[in-house]
Amino acid sequence: MRNLEIQDGLAVPVGQQEPTTFLRKAIENGHSAFLLYGPRHIGKHTLALYLAAMLNCCEANNPCGQCMSCRRILKGVFADVKTAGIETAEKGGEEIAKTGISTEQVKDIIESAAVAPYEGKTKVFIIDGAEYMSLPAANRLLKTLEEHQNYVYFILLAENADIILPTISSRLSKVEVKEAAEEDIKEYLISLGTDKETAQILAAMADGKTGWAVLAMQNADMVQERQDFAKKALDITAYPLSKRLALAGELNKMFVKDRQSLYCLLDIWQNIYRDMLAASLGQDVLVRNSQLVQNIKEAAMLLGSARITAFLQSLARSKKLLKQNVASLLTLEALMLSL
Ligand SMILES: [Zn+2]
Repeated sequence: MRNLEIQDGLAVPVGQQEPTTFLRKAIENGHSAFLLYGPRHIGKHTLALYLAAMLNCCEANNPCGQCMSCRRILKGVFADVKTAGIETAEKGGEEIAKTGISTEQVKDIIESAAVAPYEGKTKVFIIDGAEYMSLPAANRLLKTLEEHQNYVYFILLAENADIILPTISSRLSKVEVKEAAEEDIKEYLISLGTDKETAQILAAMADGKTGWAVLAMQNADMVQERQDFAKKALDITAYPLSKRLALAGELNKMFVKDRQSLYCLLDIWQNIYRDMLAASLGQDVLVRNSQLVQNIKEAAMLLGSARITAFLQSLARSKKLLKQNVASLLTLEALMLSL
């Protein structure tokens, strides 16, 4: 008799029921090249590994999460599932630039795609940071994306689907990786061994990003950074103009050094200002950052709903412009002036 765990199969990544169902159907219909997109730590890579396990699992009820293939894929050691990541350039120990996969890496992928799987049923290539792929690398990949052996699958990952080269994008089935519900993240953290209270706090902070919550479980600095960013969102309401402009400069330095950190800060600010908007409309029950509820209410009173709404719009616009590489300092100064 098979044990219950195998019958139940590997749990679908938290909050990804809908994308998973879509992907399973797409594979059944013969699709073999996908784009999973969504913000950092939302669970793109986890979903990609789940798909890779589905494509190589030995059980009928796949992915089982228990067979040798599933276990090796989830550990990241399966020979036929390869991840090509974002290349980070460093200078003097400091990160200076991120670039997508190189033409060399693409060449390796193309060569590998021509050879039959070694230990699995399929070969799965996961390409992270698809939006940072250079034009020559993309051109090289194009033909293989279009025409490859039927055992080959491509899963491209991106935070921003809008800036992927159209020639690449048009050849992919696109799937948005969804934010998970706070309650589901909490349950998941408890299943990983976190106590109830910590799970509740982290799930509330995670803003739908399961990956963030899991990393934060082991890294107190991430929680501290999240709290600092949230506090800054409230502090700026009392900043004079000069201080706000100085902050724009600091944020720009952050953007140049590690743009993901800045996106993370802007996400948290959006989260706090949405709470402020709820509070300004008397909807305190909708405030998600419950540990800051008093400060959020005070700041909301000070600004009023019209200014909060305007700043939220400004935040969304700035994020979009920064992702399109529009002059970052100007964008951030305009953001800080719009409060
Ligand atoms: Zn399996």
